[in-house]
Amino acid sequence: MNIHEYQAKALLRSYGAPVSDGRAVLKAEDAKTAAGEMDGPLWVVKAQIHAGGRGKGSFKEAEAGEKGGVRLAKSVEEAAEEAKKMLGKTLVTHQTGPAGKQVNRIYIEDGSDIERELYLALLVDRVTSRVSFVCSTEGGMDIEEVAASTPEKILSFSVDPATGYMPFHGRRVAFALGLEGAQVKECVKLMGILYKAFIEKDMEMLEINPLIVMTDGKLKVLDAKLGFDGNAIYRQPDIAELRDETEEDPKELAASKHDLNYIALDGEIGCMVNGAGLAMATMDIIKLYGAEPANFLDVGGGATKEKVTEAFKIITSDPNVKGILVNIFGGIMRCDVIAEGVIAAVKEVGLKVPLVVRLEGTNVEKGKEIINTSGLDVIAADNLSDGAEKIVKAVKG
Ligand code: GDP
Ligand code: MG
Repeated sequence: MNIHEYQAKALLRSYGAPVSDGRAVLKAEDAKTAAGEMDGPLWVVKAQIHAGGRGKGSFKEAEAGEKGGVRLAKSVEEAAEEAKKMLGKTLVTHQTGPAGKQVNRIYIEDGSDIERELYLALLVDRVTSRVSFVCSTEGGMDIEEVAASTPEKILSFSVDPATGYMPFHGRRVAFALGLEGAQVKECVKLMGILYKAFIEKDMEMLEINPLIVMTDGKLKVLDAKLGFDGNAIYRQPDIAELRDETEEDPKELAASKHDLNYIALDGEIGCMVNGAGLAMATMDIIKLYGAEPANFLDVGGGATKEKVTEAFKIITSDPNVKGILVNIFGGIMRCDVIAEGVIAAVKEVGLKVPLVVRLEGTNVEKGKEIINTSGLDVIAADNLSDGAEKIVKAVKG
């Protein structure tokens, strides 16, 4: 689960991290008052969307002006003007995809004088199963680009969970970032604060890009992107409250409400599968036969008729879906029960695209018979590659 920059900064501020003063506004009318509560002489007006690269992004609407989603203003009036231009408009960045995201909130911040822009992240490293620090002197820009062209400029190391954060971790970051004197001490303290917040709040990712050295030599968190472990949200009620459902894919949101593991993708073949491994294999084989999956969907082990129906609704609500492949392995679940669920779901939701059903496992013959005698336009498949071949053929001709 992700949160907005202004929420992330408020959280980090509560832990004692150096963050600028700022106000979030939902309406253009409030922008002037909000900006007026800060001294200036520089204001930063920032579009709040759950995607990075805002500064280099651009708006779809001409009225939003030529500039990106992070704008500097020299007066309260100018700040209010820029906020007004961005609110309600669609910002496209390299992380939003071509559709972009509508800007519903603006964060107005007291501007900082920047000497250097640095990169810092904390994340869960799946290889070491530990929390890792990642830092670089090349902050402010695309870290992916730095990683690709000059990987030697990125330092990464993990923290032993038995000791937790130690001052030497902070010094290591400080030296890699070229910090000196009092900055080293400041960095050691800040890294400790960030590590504590990361652990206590069950974060998956904490990215500060940029962490800045100001002209007065002090450090500041200038941008903050936090991601939280969705499986731990139940024990983080204060974080759960920060969820902004308007930022999430409506199909993914509906899926999470019905306990379905769903991720929307760009292809044309909708997939309904039980088990994450089988779902991955299904996506692979669709690609092998020359098409692209429209989604990842794991209905889970106990796929009830209700769940199957919900899954169908979500898949068919995607206008890109030109065909559906149901690939279910009946282990504990019986294939006849699943077949009945699929048929009931098709009857309820309706079907405007070809549907291929591949069942395997307990009571498979009975399941196939139910599909074949249902009177519905469902194509039965014998195995995984047969299923993939049939759905790709039905879609592509
Ligand atoms: P992002 O583009 O979504 O990553 O948004 P950021 O918050 O990282 O801002 C993008 C860039 O705007 C930063 O890298 C800075 O160069 C600039 N910027 C942001 N805040 C300030 C500020 O307070 N003062 C100045 N001078 N520049 C800023
Ligand atoms: Mg940034």
